[in-house]
This record gives sequence, C-alpha cells and structure tokens, in this order.
Amino acid sequence: MNLNFLIPIWVWCGLIMFAACLQAQDSPPNILLIFTDDQGYQDLGCFGSPDIKTPHLDQLADEGRKFTSFYSACSVCSPSRAALLTGCYPPRVGLTKVLFAQDNKGLNPQEITLAEMLKQVGYRTACIGKWHLGHKAPFLPTEQGFDYYYGIPYSNDMRIDPTAKLADDIVLREGVTRDQIKTVPVSKQKDRLVPLMKNDEVVEYPADQTSLTRRYTEEAIRFMAENKDQPFFVYLPHTMPHIPLFASEEFRGKSEAGLYGDTIEEIDDSVGQLMDAIDRLGLAKQTLVIYTSDNGPWKLKNGHGGRAHPLRGFKFNTYEGGMRVPCIMRWPGHIPPSSETDAVAGTIDLAPTIAALCGAALPQDRVLDGHDIMPLMTGKSAASPHQAYFYYKGNRVSAVRAGDWKLRTTPANPKKQIPEMVELFNLEDDISESKNLASEHPEKVAQLREMAAQFNQELRNASRPIGELGK
Ligand code: MG
Repeated sequence: MNLNFLIPIWVWCGLIMFAACLQAQDSPPNILLIFTDDQGYQDLGCFGSPDIKTPHLDQLADEGRKFTSFYSACSVCSPSRAALLTGCYPPRVGLTKVLFAQDNKGLNPQEITLAEMLKQVGYRTACIGKWHLGHKAPFLPTEQGFDYYYGIPYSNDMRIDPTAKLADDIVLREGVTRDQIKTVPVSKQKDRLVPLMKNDEVVEYPADQTSLTRRYTEEAIRFMAENKDQPFFVYLPHTMPHIPLFASEEFRGKSEAGLYGDTIEEIDDSVGQLMDAIDRLGLAKQTLVIYTSDNGPWKLKNGHGGRAHPLRGFKFNTYEGGMRVPCIMRWPGHIPPSSETDAVAGTIDLAPTIAALCGAALPQDRVLDGHDIMPLMTGKSAASPHQAYFYYKGNRVSAVRAGDWKLRTTPANPKKQIPEMVELFNLEDDISESKNLASEHPEKVAQLREMAAQFNQELRNASRPIGELGK
C-alpha cells in the first residue's frame, strides 16, 4: 500500500495545529486601562497605605508587576490625559492647561489617539469615565477613536455647558429643568453640578455621583462581555478620587481613611469585579490590565486629600508626589507575577507600547515622545528607555530626571525680588527630595539644565496646536 498520500495529511495537520498555537499565542491582547483621578502614590495597600485596604489591587500586583518610578506627564488632569492617549508630552500636542465647561478647546482631532490606532487593527473601543479633553462635539471620545462613551465630560467639580446636547430621555434630578440648563450661563450657575453623558448627549443632570464608580464598572463589564470575541480596548478613567468625593452607601464610612479612603476602596472593589468578569469570560491570558493615576493627590487637610508618602509634593507641582503615580500591570504569561521595576517609565509610553504589541501602526508623520516599554514589562530589560524624563508645568520644563539625578527650577519673580530657585536631588539616596545638592554639584546642574533646554527647543520646533472650535 502506498502511504505517500498520507504524508501531506500529517503535514497539514501539524501545520494547522502549529498555526492555531501561533495564533492563540500571537492574537493581540485586549486592553483594560484603569486610570484614577488624583490618587496618591501611597494610596494602595501594595504601595504602602497604612489604612486604605485594597485587596484586589494587591492581588493584581501579586499576579503582575509594580512600576515604582512611573510618571504621569503632568500634575493636572487634561494635559495628563492628552499625553496618555497620544504618547506625547502635553506641550507637544498644545494641551497644557485644565479645560473648563466654558472652553471651546480640546485635544486636536488631527491627533491620532491610542483608540484610533487600535481601531485600525480591528479593536472595539470604549471610554467609560471622565474624558476631560474637550466637551464640544468635535473633541468628544466618539470623535477621537472610541466606539462608545459613557461618563462625565470633565472634572466633577465643574458645571454644565448650556449648549450641550441633551438626550430626549434625559434624567433630570434635583428639580432641574431643561429650560434652566439651556438658559443659565456657566458663570451664573451657583452649584457645581456635572452632567453625565452617553456618546454625544447628556443623559443625566446633575449626575448622581454616588453611583458613578458602580455604573462605570457595570458599563465596562457589559462592553467586555459584548466584545469578548474580538479584541477590545476599554479605557476606564474613574471620576474618583477627584474632589468632591462621593462613595456609594455600601462603601461610605467603611474605610479607616475617611471619605477619600472609601472612594479608593470602592474602586478596589470595582477592580475585583472587573477581574472576575475577565476570568468568567475566559480572557485572563489575553487581556493586559493596566492600573495607574492621572497625577498626584490633592494637598488637603480635611481628610479629602490623598498621600504620596514617601514622596514630596502633591498635585499641581513637579516634586515627585505631583507626578510619580502608582502603576500595576498584569498580563499572565507575559508579565512576570509578583515582580516590580524601579526603571523610569510613564503614561507617555503606553500608547507606543500598546500600539506595538497590538500590531497597530504608530503615526510616522509626527514626533511622539514615549517609548515601547514592553522589555520593562516582561522583565527582559531592567533599563529605562528614557535617557531623560521631563516634567512639564504648563509650557515650561520645570524639572528633568536623568538616572538618579533630578534638577528642578522655579523661575525668578522680579516683582517680589525672588531669585530663581534651583534644586538638585539624588532620588536614589533621597526619594523624598529633602536635600538640595545644587551647590555641591554645579556641573550636574549645568548638565541637566542644558539637557532640558535642548529638549525643550526640539519640542518647540515640532509641536502641534490644541484643537479649537472654528479654527
Ligand atoms: Mg487629576
């Protein structure tokens, strides 16, 4: 009997199995990116909180990797988010200030967001939470690469734009009428009441903030379940713990760290629910989960602010506490469990990294500032791809870090006859930035100053404008 004809069958079977294995291994991962608002460096159990209990985040760290020198690109909300979604320092994309309900500006639709990159390769995309990159129609998430949007358009201490599009079935609360919304200008609104949006319409006003964390969680789980058979990108920028703080009844008064602690513990519970859902859907091995914060905590003494210990500084400044944020990543089979890295990385690296691992093309016609940090995530490399990391405050380079050294400058104020302040810290020896070594190491000061000036000039030469209505 001639068995030769069987050989091709065996070969075929082998090839098919090999291809199936390759496909399973190489199929692009789902991305769940959880981004809290103003959560301090210390405000998780696994980052040292003495009184906020975060068992689910601690488990996420046990199953993944902690990044202990991970930076947001700005110490306030809008620029930080612009950087996250574009892979650029905020002045590169012209978005350097917080946006308000009166503003006609937003992230330029010409920018190519991470969501747009992923859509090109077949991802379903959702933004569930606080947007804050422009609330006018051309700047909304649904115009910037997201198939679905549910959340508040800017910070929860802001008001409503009377020109906002209202859904026919809008839920009006607290006695507010459509007429009131349409006729009272932002400057005349007494209360800071924020709207809740679905896609391009306001669906609830004022938003019931006590249930936002729960509703965001439900929306995210629903979206993942509906799209479990194709790759998805769920961007979940929580409204909390930005002030004013709100927790649901179930969590209010529960933590040992006041209302702030309650909000974090509710977010932790949300993380637990999301991980359970990912397990239930059988997606754990093909889902990269990233958890981080948009900037440091508020400096408030009324129990509504967070903590960045052992770091110095808070939101609004460029000491470490303003911009170094907790970060955890989990991707079973790719990211080693119970591991951590102290190499410098940041939110500007997420777009290039995720695009690369999802097979999406990065834009070639513009400069991006972030790097692919996959080698740091997998542990294949221990070295940061950033020769220097720059801390922008508005349009100004306020600080630069190269290796362990950090230079921070505060401009002179001639009116008050205050000279320029120059601070030099060695973060390896002094993570709390308590010893200014500028006078001991003038050569280091000069070197870092030159580095910052040179980079800033390069950035100016290749920066792009903010989006503005009518322009
Ligand atoms: Mg923030």
